[in-house]
Amino acid sequence: MHSENVITLSKKNIPKRWYNIQPDLRKPLEPPLHPATRQPMTPKEMEMIFPGNLMEQEASQERWIDIPEDVLDVLSMWRPTPLIRARKFEEALETPAQIWYKYEGGSPPGSHKPNTAVPQAYFNKKAGIKRLATETGAGQWGSALAFACYHYGLKCQVYMVKVSYQQKPYRKSMMHLWQAEVTPSPSNKTEVGRKILEKDPECLGSLGIAISEAIEDTLHHPDTKYSLGSVLNHVLMHQTIIGLETKEQLKMAGVKPDIIIGCVGGGSNYAGLALPFMADKLAGKDDYKFIAVEPTACPSLTRGEYRYDFGDTVGMTPLIKMYTLGRNFIAPPIHSGGLRYHGMAPIISNLVNEGLMEAQAKLQIPTFEAAVLFARTEGIIPAPETAHAIRATVDEALKAKKENTPRVILFNFSGHGLLDLSAYDAYFSGELKDYEYVPQKEG
Ligand SMILES: *Cc1c(COP(=O)(O)O)cnc(C)c1O
Repeated sequence: MHSENVITLSKKNIPKRWYNIQPDLRKPLEPPLHPATRQPMTPKEMEMIFPGNLMEQEASQERWIDIPEDVLDVLSMWRPTPLIRARKFEEALETPAQIWYKYEGGSPPGSHKPNTAVPQAYFNKKAGIKRLATETGAGQWGSALAFACYHYGLKCQVYMVKVSYQQKPYRKSMMHLWQAEVTPSPSNKTEVGRKILEKDPECLGSLGIAISEAIEDTLHHPDTKYSLGSVLNHVLMHQTIIGLETKEQLKMAGVKPDIIIGCVGGGSNYAGLALPFMADKLAGKDDYKFIAVEPTACPSLTRGEYRYDFGDTVGMTPLIKMYTLGRNFIAPPIHSGGLRYHGMAPIISNLVNEGLMEAQAKLQIPTFEAAVLFARTEGIIPAPETAHAIRATVDEALKAKKENTPRVILFNFSGHGLLDLSAYDAYFSGELKDYEYVPQKEG
């Protein structure tokens, strides 16, 4: 048996192409619809908010897309990332299962998100764009895009969900460091924000509202495009570098996973790990059990409907076919800001709907319990989002123990929790609550 705990891939073996799953899906994706006419969006219409080169990727039916040299150069600041066997965690769980994780916490902002922020900034720059507008929940995406924009000399305007702006001041500091402008949302900067504040001056915001603000900003500035950190096809594709590296590393280690796990907010980090393996399942080559893990407080895959819905709250974005809790859903204030989105990526939704991927929802307190055990045994403190993947990993490892089967479990470690320590404090002081989903009325 291979005894290495850490499998590293050399810089020269960094993947040179992204994997696009679209041509391999059993059922093709349904097109985005225009918010007013409800007709399929034309490329010209999409280019009101996104640059043409990224929209080509969004609809591409090419299985492999080259990663530009310049993008590889920036990504290789922290990539390839290590694949690590969590031996001490396994021992603590007394499981016969092997547990491996792909560590995405070593990037400049500390998560998987710059894997797409960097190419997005690059392609916008190439298209002649000067400024990007975006939203951020916990601040992970905003800090990743701020880093990428700084690198390519683009301006960056971030609308940050107000509750996180107040709870997570250090993410804001990080965005300032990379010279982004950060505005708590809802704000007075946009029509949308002003209307919401008029009705409810205390409104703490949501990702859906912040998206509406960023899109309105984009439509009012000719040099600006909008950038989204998850959900869209091209975003998921940029993240496949995670799974492509992992496949090489598993080959080096001589192991084959049985179960592949990741947390899902919009679905991008999990897609990044899972889709290159899903390719083998779709081709009938290999079988894996895929588990997408979401919070019970925001359970779009396990409790949502599979239908067309807007990506934002106001209804300014194209409609996309996805699992959704409804665009007016505002998730309770759980500490996993990155998992509080009402919808789910169309690609992940498609795979779950086709029965190729399973979804599970986890409660907040048992999720932190798993994260604490991981941090104590492995020494790495997970982001609260990542903790959901760890909870599911623990459950599978305990099942393997009960059934006395030596399974191989692989999960994506989407980001570190060094700026989320207040959430751990809340857990230790007993202040955390478990939330079950309560459907909200469409307004
Ligand atoms: C943003 C974020 C997530 C959730 O987003 P996905 O698009 O589902 O990956 C998960 N983990 C971390 C650390 C994040 O920053």
